[in-house]
Amino acid sequence: MVYLNGNFIPKEKAYISVMDRGFLFGDGVYEVFPVYDKKIIGFEAHLSRLQDGLDAINIKNPHSNDDWKSLIKKIISFNIKNANQAIYLQISRGCDQNRKHTYDELDPTIYIQSSLIGPREKNSLFKGKSAITREDIRWLKSNTKATSLLANTLYAQEAKENNAEEAILLRDGIVTEASSSNVFIVKDNCIYTHPKGRNILPGITRDITISLAKKLDIKVNETTFSKEQLMEADEVWITSSTREILPITSVDNNIINSGLSGPIWSLIYDQYQLLKTA
Ligand code: PMP
Repeated sequence: MVYLNGNFIPKEKAYISVMDRGFLFGDGVYEVFPVYDKKIIGFEAHLSRLQDGLDAINIKNPHSNDDWKSLIKKIISFNIKNANQAIYLQISRGCDQNRKHTYDELDPTIYIQSSLIGPREKNSLFKGKSAITREDIRWLKSNTKATSLLANTLYAQEAKENNAEEAILLRDGIVTEASSSNVFIVKDNCIYTHPKGRNILPGITRDITISLAKKLDIKVNETTFSKEQLMEADEVWITSSTREILPITSVDNNIINSGLSGPIWSLIYDQYQLLKTA
């Protein structure tokens, strides 16, 4: 079951108009809420980022946080066979009479669906995953979680065609983030990740990872790092709501350190698992 503009309906019956600006222009924002056995991780933070996204593109929030919560909880209960769910929520600007670039105030189109989050067993992650690097040519509002994701989907496809998990993006030699995740490195027991700003999405898993590290008294530097530092790191990870904290052990076919996930990743991974049952 999915939610579309006030109705809970089977996904096969959910249709939108060809005049929807989400379809025509990618004119909308979205959120993904990770759910483990009905527990939503970072619920408030995701709702707050949704509000930031709506503000950034001038769409009035069609619901209060309480309304969002009850809609999302209903979708979770309708899809309970997915033990671990990614709740995808999209708001587009809505439908106009004709296709035109400018917009007036419209009734937003609201869509919510659930999909399965696959298992992330620790022992399946020791060898880590591989990544490629690409030049980050995205617009300078990458902090807005916009549905117009053409650059990101092309990068993701390139990663897939290179049998890699992710495409790590570089702007002027600096690692920004990856096509659908944030990037962390560890060097000499310190963690580094790109600071927030217009070049990266402020990932909720990024924030959680930073606070877990601080709780463990591991130093975190929200400072930029270069491709060279990435290649010479002791550990590389990517983070996202559906991938959690995933070790990257090869970049552009070069092995990172020993080619295995590292001890700091292991500590943070364990802490993150505790959040699912807390
Ligand atoms: N960066 C990008 C470009 C993303 O698309 C995502 C989410 N898929 C992230 C980072 C991670 O964000 P979060 O931890 O909130 O899922």
